[in-house]
Amino acid sequence: MSAIVERYAQKFEKSGRLSERGHRTIPNGAHLSRPLHPFPVYVEHAQGGLKWDADGNEIVDYMMGYGALILGHSHPKINEALTARLAKGTHMGAATPEELRWAELVSELIPSAERVRFTSSGTESTLLAIRLARAFTGKNKVVKFREHFHGWHDYVSMESGINTQAGIPPEAMATVIVAEPDVDELAALFEQDGDVAAVIMEPTGAHWGQFPVQNPSFLESVRELTARHGVVMIMDEVITAFRLSRGGAQGRYGVTPDLTTMAKIVAGGLPGGAVAGKDDIMSLLAPGNHPVHMSHPGTFIANPLSATAGIACLETLANEPVNERADAMAERLKAGLVEAMGRMEVIGHVHGVASIIHVVLGAECNDGGGISTLPHDELAERTAAQSGPLKLAMLNEGVDMMGGIGFIVSAAHGEDLIDRTSEAFENSLKALRAEGVV
Ligand code: PMP
Repeated sequence: MSAIVERYAQKFEKSGRLSERGHRTIPNGAHLSRPLHPFPVYVEHAQGGLKWDADGNEIVDYMMGYGALILGHSHPKINEALTARLAKGTHMGAATPEELRWAELVSELIPSAERVRFTSSGTESTLLAIRLARAFTGKNKVVKFREHFHGWHDYVSMESGINTQAGIPPEAMATVIVAEPDVDELAALFEQDGDVAAVIMEPTGAHWGQFPVQNPSFLESVRELTARHGVVMIMDEVITAFRLSRGGAQGRYGVTPDLTTMAKIVAGGLPGGAVAGKDDIMSLLAPGNHPVHMSHPGTFIANPLSATAGIACLETLANEPVNERADAMAERLKAGLVEAMGRMEVIGHVHGVASIIHVVLGAECNDGGGISTLPHDELAERTAAQSGPLKLAMLNEGVDMMGGIGFIVSAAHGEDLIDRTSEAFENSLKALRAEGVV
């Protein structure tokens, strides 16, 4: 057993025992999208930028609800609003005034949001957007870019990695084209194939920008090509909406898609998602407004609790310098990480936009504009090699990174937590060096 794993097993001993219990009822022992070896940490409570596990360890959190918690954990405004709403009931089985306010806020903040429809998750949002695009255009195929992540339904899960092809009918897979995020390739593809209904993409590149695209030029080119060929452009802003700017990636880069998919921040940390976009496409969901009608039912869509948390979050974000605070703390952390690598004489670089940070060990490559220009395969290889050991080494130092490849910073991370994180990173590099990882 490596020294890192040994220390982890001791520090998180109760989590180890909970994981053994978990295996008896839950396949994989815990509902985590990426299994953590030797076992995951079971967390009991959280506040601001911190969380505490079953052993009582205090952990600086950069998972941040997989990106849902831009205000940090247990934000008082969201908590107060939810407590008041709980006393009034959790499901009305009817329309509520909350869903109207929630939709109005999304519409005010997101440039493409002429109309809004809520869902229960990001996966449901991308499924709904793809179905809408197919119904609207009468065409069948969808183009997605290599490794861009859009959830786990049949039309976005054909690449190995987080997803697997198991159980997806080949007929469903045959309707999806996986393309390189390359403008010339996309142009050629549109010329050859007249049956493309939509292009769906993560606006900053695959895996919340781990494999970055050059913006705004890439988004502008996709916008221009899709418009020319009558293809619906779906910007998947599940991670980036309300984070890259109040108006998401589209607000930051000034490129307006036809449809936008959202989740995470939109529901203030509770389950929920949204699809927003052009009135002529969205009106397929209103019987009588369009020759084609598309149904979209769902028990928990726009439920009052998610709506309440969403309203509290979006109102706070609209009126306070939430993005500015999170972005400034991310800048401070980036500088701290680079300094730690310098002091340790470890080769590596950081990149990322706004409050998102990616770390790549083993290769120097940065164009100075926050975009890693390392080729896809090399980036994939390096980050795959570092992610497991770095995630564990950082947890040993009391920091939970996103997948061992990066950090999602919130407005609740103060300078003290940021500096504690840089120090933890330096100590982790020492532990990794002792094991020959760096
Ligand atoms: N799209 C993107 C860009 C995502 O990052 C995610 C989740 N990480 C999804 C879709 C799926 O969202 P959910 O987990 O809410 O189904």
